[in-house]
Amino acid sequence: MASDFKVSMLASSSSGNVTYIETPEHKVLVDAGLSGKKIADLMGQIDRNLQDVDAIFVTHEHSDHIAGVGVLARKYGMDVYANAKTWSVMQNKIGKVKPEQVHVFEPNQTQLMGDLDVESFSVSHDAIDPQFYAFHHAGKTFAMLTDTGYMNDISRSMLKDADTVLMEANHDYDMLRMGSYAWPLKQRILSDRGHLSNEDGALAIADIVGQHTKNVYLGHLSPENNEKALAHLTVTDVLQSKDLGVDHDFFLHDTSPLAATRLQEI
Ligand SMILES: [Zn+2]
Ligand SMILES: [Zn+2]
Repeated sequence: MASDFKVSMLASSSSGNVTYIETPEHKVLVDAGLSGKKIADLMGQIDRNLQDVDAIFVTHEHSDHIAGVGVLARKYGMDVYANAKTWSVMQNKIGKVKPEQVHVFEPNQTQLMGDLDVESFSVSHDAIDPQFYAFHHAGKTFAMLTDTGYMNDISRSMLKDADTVLMEANHDYDMLRMGSYAWPLKQRILSDRGHLSNEDGALAIADIVGQHTKNVYLGHLSPENNEKALAHLTVTDVLQSKDLGVDHDFFLHDTSPLAATRLQEI
């Protein structure tokens, strides 16, 4: 049966992240880490309009997640959800947002919003209080995890057997190690408050896929320290070594820094 619960990764990379999710009653974004103009263009690619979006769920205050949040909130009147600590540091980066659009959504809580339930969960990343989200509608789940140094227990339980998943594959370990980044930045990325490598992402996927899992997206690739084909191949190899059949048990999709993935039924 066709599902009316859909998702598109509008943009995913270390240079900007926006995810679009819709149900019959809601059209929402997770993060808005690009200019308002670019996000409007990306919405056009999936034949949708920012005017119809009612909320943004913010994961953390890094600019690749919040660059467009203030502009979209002011221009389109969107409600903005983030936890209190994130609001405390985000507020002066995004400019003025009307008090009635400011919503505090603490970690490890659930928001019931008519036909959409949203769960927040804490992750391990070098931001003040980073959290990611799982969305539930009509018995289906879309869950996402990027910007984390490792997959903690609560993340694992949120992603377990989700129908559709966005998983981080930030860097190729050797490309990062040999690349041009200064050592402190390399250390930060590799730390348990940094990002998941292609292999880490693959092992996390192996851990959470279940009989309901149909679509897995690889996201938040570093333009500097990764390549789409390399991430895809590395993850496929790891999954095959664990007897998980990519494009048989589930589909493995790529994402792009500035091209929306096809609007996918969850
Ligand atoms: Zn990020
Ligand atoms: Zn981040």
